[in-house]
Amino acid sequence: DPQARWSAVDAYVTDLLAPADEALTAALAASDEAGLPQIAVAPNQGKLLHLLARVQGARTILEIGTLGGYSSIWLARALPPEGRLISLEYDPAHAEVARLNLARAGLDAVAEVRTGAALDTLPELEAEGAGPFDLVFVDADKKNNPRYVEWALRLTRPGSVIVVDNVVRGGRVVDGETADEAVRGTREMFDLVARDPRLDATAFQTVGVKGYDGMLVARVVS
Ligand code: SAM
Repeated sequence: DPQARWSAVDAYVTDLLAPADEALTAALAASDEAGLPQIAVAPNQGKLLHLLARVQGARTILEIGTLGGYSSIWLARALPPEGRLISLEYDPAHAEVARLNLARAGLDAVAEVRTGAALDTLPELEAEGAGPFDLVFVDADKKNNPRYVEWALRLTRPGSVIVVDNVVRGGRVVDGETADEAVRGTREMFDLVARDPRLDATAFQTVGVKGYDGMLVARVVS
C-alpha cells in the first residue's frame, strides 16, 4: 500500500525534523473540534514553508487561504519580531479559529487574518499600500490560482518568492481536457507562470500523508 509507506516516511521525517509542539498540536485539535476540513499542509510541508521564509529573510508574508492557521503559524514563526503576516480567508468561521490558534501560538502581534473573498480583499490590500510582500503563499480556491498569482505579482518586488500549493492534484494536472475547475485553474496558472518573463519557477511532485500532490515555487525576477 503506497499510501501507508508514504505516511510512515512522513512520520519518520516529521518526528526528526519538524516535530509538533503545543501550539501546532493545539491548532490542529481546535481546527478538528470546529469541524474544519483536514486540508492543512503536512508538518514537513509547513516546515518547508518556514525554511523558505527564513532563507528568503522574509519580513512580510502574504497568505491566501488560512483555514485554521496551521500554515500561518509555520510561516509567521519565520518572521522577525517587527515582521508581518497577512492571511486572507473567505470563511469567517475558519478565520475565527485561525485567530485563536495564532494568539495561542503567541503570534497575534505579527499575524493578522482578514475575512472575505481574496479577490475582494486583495484590491483592498493594494489600496492600503500593503506590501511589497517578500513571500506569498497561495493555498485557497484553486480555480482562482491564476488570479492569485497575478495579484501576487502586483504585491511583490524583484526577489520575492511565490509558492502555490496543490499543483499536481494526484497527477490530474496533465489532463488538458478535464472539467475539474481546480485542475483548469492550476493549468492556467502554470501557463501564466511559464509565459511571464517576471517569474522564474519550478514545480515538484510530492507524496506523503497528504497523498500525491505538489508545489510550485517561483521567484520574481523583475
Ligand atoms: N493554508 C492552510 C494550511 O495549510 O493550514 C490551508 C488552506 S485550505 C487548503 C483553503 C482555504 O481557503 C479554506 O479555509 C477556504 O475557506 C479558503 N478559501 C476558499 N475560497 C476562498 C476565497 N475566495 N478567498 C479566500 N479564501 C478562500
